[in-house]
Amino acid sequence: MSGLAPYLSPEALASRTESVAARLGAELVVYGDSVQGRPLRAIRIRGPGSSRPRILCSANIHGPEFIGGLTALALAESVARGDWQPQAELWVIPCLNPDGYVQTWARGGEGPLSTLRTNANGVDLNRNFPRPADSPSWLPGAGSTRPGDATYRGAHPLSEPETAQLDALLAQQKFSASANLHSFMGTVIPASVRDRASFSAYKGLASALAAGQRHTRYRRLSARVLDVYTGEQEDHQHHVHRTWAVCVESFPLWASYRQHRRAPSTFWRFNPRDPQHWIDNDVPGLHAYFEHALALDRPPARSPGRR
Ligand SMILES: [Zn+2]
Repeated sequence: MSGLAPYLSPEALASRTESVAARLGAELVVYGDSVQGRPLRAIRIRGPGSSRPRILCSANIHGPEFIGGLTALALAESVARGDWQPQAELWVIPCLNPDGYVQTWARGGEGPLSTLRTNANGVDLNRNFPRPADSPSWLPGAGSTRPGDATYRGAHPLSEPETAQLDALLAQQKFSASANLHSFMGTVIPASVRDRASFSAYKGLASALAAGQRHTRYRRLSARVLDVYTGEQEDHQHHVHRTWAVCVESFPLWASYRQHRRAPSTFWRFNPRDPQHWIDNDVPGLHAYFEHALALDRPPARSPGRR
């Protein structure tokens, strides 16, 4: 028994992904390969009818955030159980960063964030998306230019196979909405937008998500006055691919601290000992978020470089 139980080994994650897809009669799409050659996999749940809008739930872009992958798979299972029948084609990517996942597992969840969080090239994949040319790089959270830092943003935008191939998938599938699962914080962080209409749409989306959550509502974090682009997935999805996109940070700070005043390892700061408690909370919130998003038109076309 691994010290990271009840979380899944990389092999168990792969076979659980396969079995969930099989149960749904869904397609298992390999949209690329990681730096170390591991398949980047998505479950594609088409549902009845044709030409349905597409929605995406992705997770684990950061190595140690295993709770996100489990929640994403639970979302797919909720469809298999008939708890949710989205009027859309649902794509689920349980692990955007398989090399980071393997690294975290191999080290028993111990080690510096810079090692566990990044891909095999040491790049923070969630700082590797393009930023507009006029966005100053020193903004907080914009990522580091120094290899070895936990937020190292890589040689250039989309320099990594994991992000470049995700970008190709996003361009091809034109998702209406996306929820990208992280931990920990207990917050919902929408794409950074300045136009009033998008800002208020995100307010509604975050409220819908929170209202759907079973026992703990996550708060929205955003500020319209700051046009902060940090090379994150949500900003890229919103501004380039016209997708409503939020980052959901599961597992609130207080719950992480309550679990361990001093976590025994990096891993146990990010992941609840009882994942099911947070999965049960978050999956209905994701249902509500996607339902709300599907009632909206997609975000307006706008280049991230223009204001
Ligand atoms: Zn994260």
